[in-house]
Amino acid sequence: CARASMEPAPSEGQSDPPVHGVSDRVVGVLGGGQLGKMLCQAASQMGVKVAILDPLENCPASSVCHKHVVGSFDDGDTVREFAKRCDVLTFEIEHVDAATLEKLEKQGVVCEPKASTIMIIQDKFRQKQYFSKFGIPLPDFVEVDTLSSIEKAGQMFGYPLMVKSKRLAYDGRGNAVAHDKNELSSVVSSLGGFEHGLYVERWTPFAKELSVIVARSRDGCTVCYPVVETIHKDNICHVVEAPAEISEKMKTLATSVAEKAIKSLEGAGVFAVELFLTNDNQVLLNEVAPRPHNSGHQTIEACYTSQYEQHLRAILGLPLGDPSMKAPAAIMYNILGEDEGESGFVLAHQLIKRALNTPGASVHWYAKPEMRKQRKMGHITIVGPSMFIVKAQLDKLLQRDADGVN
Ligand code: ATP
Ligand code: MG
Ligand code: MG
Repeated sequence: CARASMEPAPSEGQSDPPVHGVSDRVVGVLGGGQLGKMLCQAASQMGVKVAILDPLENCPASSVCHKHVVGSFDDGDTVREFAKRCDVLTFEIEHVDAATLEKLEKQGVVCEPKASTIMIIQDKFRQKQYFSKFGIPLPDFVEVDTLSSIEKAGQMFGYPLMVKSKRLAYDGRGNAVAHDKNELSSVVSSLGGFEHGLYVERWTPFAKELSVIVARSRDGCTVCYPVVETIHKDNICHVVEAPAEISEKMKTLATSVAEKAIKSLEGAGVFAVELFLTNDNQVLLNEVAPRPHNSGHQTIEACYTSQYEQHLRAILGLPLGDPSMKAPAAIMYNILGEDEGESGFVLAHQLIKRALNTPGASVHWYAKPEMRKQRKMGHITIVGPSMFIVKAQLDKLLQRDADGVN
């Protein structure tokens, strides 16, 4: 695949103004959480202007973006107004008003990736149906809308049975496990009933969870980041090991499944493909995020081009950068809220102090206004000469009384 061409340089006699620096285009981002913040930080290095749309006055991205519009990214009129000040629209969260984005696209607004992609992704059942049409390997799944249909699914797939909300899911909120038939009705109620849309998946007793970040340029070229392993705690991504410690054969398989899935979608940007590696060496797709992702945080310090810079390059029509690692190993640890309020901040700060004393460690603090239990408050990335060493460094800094630095 040929490399994406730079923004057309105006030649003599043409009326196009010259490009100042990397790009003169204003990037509009729907959502100003930590992903939006890190996107702004990459943009700042390249002198690219980013406007953020987020309802929270002091959202993480507000301190680093060029312009923060306070408003809902889920409200059609607000998104329409916001789009007027941007040259290309993108998002850090897929739970946005996709119908409005589709209308805007028809009026000539550039959205990357495309509204069609968001529509497919934001409904996890539709996403699975879509990928199965393209022959992507998935856990078995079926839509359920009555108690009898979910009982039938339980008979078909056995227990435990994974029950999932079709929409608005994140960090496992929207998933529930039924261990036997008797639990089905309480599990369904815990997810708000059948009204908002549920489906079930066959339980996958995976050996590892993997993720591959795939970047695609505006002219359809793709590059893939090295396969990483993600380790979840209570359904929340907690640790990322880069590269994953799996065979070359499995790396190739995971990368090809991920690339095939992303090639089936429309639009430019980075996409994260969450995968299950089973004990019998199958790779199954769990879900796709059409944006920078938690499993790519470590690319900031560990790769030649971070996923955030890569996303900007892709959506702006610039050449894609090198996704490969510049160090043998990296580990990323999410700082999750351990307690509400001040005591939670104290615990997080103790961990940060230990990280600041760790060679090769970088601390990212999102500066979210409120500390809540299980909330992603920041992360630590340790880069080093081997996975063994970075793991040992992480273990050491997670010991509460290590070095007396408390
Ligand atoms: P995210 O924050 O990544 O968007 P989510 O709320 O959309 O998460 P999923 O990715 O569907 O949730 O699931 C969360 C976690 O639950 C997975 O990473 C995996 O650990 C576990 N899980 C999901 N589906 C299955 C399954 N079919 N079998 C076994 N475990 C599963
Ligand atoms: Mg999800
Ligand atoms: Mg997930």
